[in-house]
Amino acid sequence: MKNVSAGETVTLAGFTVLLVRKKVRRVTIAVLPPYGEVRVTAPYGVSITEIERIVSGKRAWLESKIASFSADPGKERTYGEGEYALLWGRRVPILPRVGAPGVLLTLEGRILSARADDPKKRAAVLEAFYRKEVQTETEKLLPFITAMTGLSPTSITVRKMARRWGTCYHREGTVHLSLSLAEYPPECLSYVLLHELLHLRYPDHGSGFHAALDRFMPENRAVAAELNRMRRLSYGAWADPPENDPPKNE
Ligand SMILES: [Zn+2]
Repeated sequence: MKNVSAGETVTLAGFTVLLVRKKVRRVTIAVLPPYGEVRVTAPYGVSITEIERIVSGKRAWLESKIASFSADPGKERTYGEGEYALLWGRRVPILPRVGAPGVLLTLEGRILSARADDPKKRAAVLEAFYRKEVQTETEKLLPFITAMTGLSPTSITVRKMARRWGTCYHREGTVHLSLSLAEYPPECLSYVLLHELLHLRYPDHGSGFHAALDRFMPENRAVAAELNRMRRLSYGAWADPPENDPPKNE
């Protein structure tokens, strides 16, 4: 699960921080692109109180740095030039079409041409693309998960879902996945797919369900945490370009 950061998310001096303990000499603080995540790396022996004191001393710098990554709340997403789209945990720029109306979404070398001038239509183009991405990746993953678990759904539908990553109707054997999963690291889709398939055998989140989840994906908790963390960070990820200055430290 390469995209999963080790460490724990904690609140220090009012900041949400990913705290990583490592064999290092001193505490370092970085605000990372593309989402303005705050990461604090600290030696094993340093107390949380001391780390909080250091973070607190960097308050002004942290606030301005985080703000440089955040979306302008007064700005509406247009899915147009100068914005970004997320794809499998990466942020890719949206470019203008040359000599024609509309925009190009250059997603990982694939070009998605949205001729429409209307932001709603461009959003629909992106959603259709995400749906297809999730379908394609699910088709690749499913044989492995089925071989591993012995579970196979009667159908999988990828669609726009407002509040969930996936659902399973265990009586019918059907699974629905959110097309938004294409925005997050690939292991997030693996996790959600495994999670929903396990509901075919364990309808609730009881101990049997969790034991199976731990057996088939020991890192499931870290992946679920990563998905929720990225969801929070992704709200403004379409707007401002990341600054490329090297991570600064304490
Ligand atoms: Zn569930």
